[in-house]
Amino acid sequence: MSIDERLKEVDLKITAAAEKSGRKRSDITMIAVTKTHPADMMNEAIRCGVTDIGENKPQEVRDKFDDILPVKWHLIGHLQTNKVKYIIDKVCLIHSVDSIKLMDEIERQAQKHNLVMDILIQVNISGEATKSGVSKDEVEELLLYAGKLKNIRVKGLMTVAPKTDNSVTNILHFDNIRQLFIDIKQKTYDNVNMQYLSMGMSGDYETAIECGANMVRIGSAIFGERDYSLK
Ligand SMILES: *Cc1c(COP(=O)(O)O)cnc(C)c1O
Repeated sequence: MSIDERLKEVDLKITAAAEKSGRKRSDITMIAVTKTHPADMMNEAIRCGVTDIGENKPQEVRDKFDDILPVKWHLIGHLQTNKVKYIIDKVCLIHSVDSIKLMDEIERQAQKHNLVMDILIQVNISGEATKSGVSKDEVEELLLYAGKLKNIRVKGLMTVAPKTDNSVTNILHFDNIRQLFIDIKQKTYDNVNMQYLSMGMSGDYETAIECGANMVRIGSAIFGERDYSLK
């Protein structure tokens, strides 16, 4: 199948899942995840209508940026403080913020570039030790800290569900973070506007949307399996 055909298929599934949960296709932002893929594949996807792309490594954003047609870039993978400078003036949203130290560095770099950076707090909802993200209990500390910053805006939450064959477990995780999202939305925090709930990847995006996600990050369902040996 071509990228265009795969995109159409994904789009139909997003539409169906959105409608199942009482929403419209236009309520859901689809981020095409292009890590490991070359510029020509990315540009083909953009020509087919992709408006948002996601990379998980800051170096890949930096290296590909000049070869890619106009599009919104998202940083979705773990971000070390010393790499913030590679992406600060290139991405529209950083999904993977999970420490005060990282918030401080994003603030510093954003100030330097005279811009305001939108971020999501990455939550490790399953409690898996290997996954990045803060625990549910640590989220509030970061939200309160955001109130002191001028060049960062918190726009929502992001999570990566554990790899599992048990979709019931993932429904529980997704419901859990959706509840957290709603709880935060009902309170008032300076500088926090709970707009985006970023959850769902190729294997679970329909489930995630049915559980309330309004941003999904889809790689292999559009571009096929990744070949990490090329990198
Ligand atoms: C790679 C990646 C994705 C996309 O994964 P697929 O299973 O290929 O859809 C989504 N989110 C993050 C954080 C990723 O690193």
